[in-house]
Amino acid sequence: MNARDRQHIKSVQDFGPDFAALRAQFPALAQTVRGRRLAYLDSAASALKPLAVIDAMSAFDSRDYANIHRGVHALSQRATDAFEAARQTVARFVNARSADEIVFVRNATEAINLVAASFLRPRLGAGDEVLISAMEHHANIVPWQLVCESVGARLRVMPISDDGLLDLERLPQLLGARTRLLAITHASNVLGTVNDVAALTRIAHARGVPVLVDGAQAAPHLRVDVQALDCDFYAFSAHKVYGPSGIGVLWGRAELLVGMPPYQGGGDMIHTVSFEGSTFAAPPARFEAGTPHITGAIGLAAAVDFLQGIGWEHVAAHERVLLAQAEQALQEIPGLRIYGRAPGKIGVIAFNLEGVHAHDLGTIADASGVAIRSGHHCAMPLMQRYGVAAMARASFGVYSDAQDVAALVAAVRQAQAMFA
Ligand code: PLP
Repeated sequence: MNARDRQHIKSVQDFGPDFAALRAQFPALAQTVRGRRLAYLDSAASALKPLAVIDAMSAFDSRDYANIHRGVHALSQRATDAFEAARQTVARFVNARSADEIVFVRNATEAINLVAASFLRPRLGAGDEVLISAMEHHANIVPWQLVCESVGARLRVMPISDDGLLDLERLPQLLGARTRLLAITHASNVLGTVNDVAALTRIAHARGVPVLVDGAQAAPHLRVDVQALDCDFYAFSAHKVYGPSGIGVLWGRAELLVGMPPYQGGGDMIHTVSFEGSTFAAPPARFEAGTPHITGAIGLAAAVDFLQGIGWEHVAAHERVLLAQAEQALQEIPGLRIYGRAPGKIGVIAFNLEGVHAHDLGTIADASGVAIRSGHHCAMPLMQRYGVAAMARASFGVYSDAQDVAALVAAVRQAQAMFA
């Protein structure tokens, strides 16, 4: 081991008060997979859950679970209180002005579809435009495409550099008189690029264009402050911030939510109902038709408390070290190309190895207990941008360590040897 590696490993172990104790919070990591130590490098798809989340959900389900908002009995009141307390916790997590700005949805995808249907659709006409970027996940492409197609509007796309950076200088030209929304990812799930959302928002707002931020990948990695970003909507999913799947968040500026029609109709979102017509509850209830993922909200609140408890400076420092270590080692492999070179990127490394299909890389890695993802990563236009059908992707969580990186590098080298 050379001096550089020793230093890296030391820094990783310096992570938080006690890195081993932190890893021990994630029971899934204790298992072997295919007879090998599990190196879970797929956190950008879904992060593993800490005990804090598993136990909070289990305790709630064991004792307090009942349907919310409609019951006068003790369990329903307890469940309602816990659900609404979770909303408060999430509001603090994103620095919302009020918990009423937090809409619980199924995931980031649903949050974006909600804005497409309830905010954009009534404002969009033939010839209007929605501006997105070339690095978007399908969740931040297809909902806009659907609504554009329904009225004869069109999508415009901000290009990116080979290194995976947006060209902010191009933005003013792309934001035309017909632009009705800028929908941009805070961090790319493939390139790892963190976009300067505050700057983008300033430019868009100066032209009267509202901004939706897809925060699915940023929320696990950096402190989200919707007031500092000054955006209009922010979407993220619980399962990427160490919480459960099936629940996500739409943060929306109160003034905008208040003027938006319901997304779906049903119970809980109404004020009055008669056969002649219905009136609707104020936000956020207006956008939460039907019984939500109640236990999921409890798990999400526990997850963001856990993440904030680690401290953002630790999360960022840890990730920086691992990223540098992994990129350095991967680059030494001949024929390996890493996509995304933006400074300050999140802990995501997308790559291809000459002569080995990304799916084969994933399969060979799995045989060594290394969990990576391969495919188009729900970003087919981005794959086209780089002229490939697929990429392999390793992504880090707060529990990732130098052994995971070493296992990844060994697996990639093994794949190369097998295909040589
Ligand atoms: N946006 C980005 C950047 C993502 O990476 C993802 C998921 O990978 C999504 C949106 C969609 O998240 P979900 O499937 O939880 O709705």
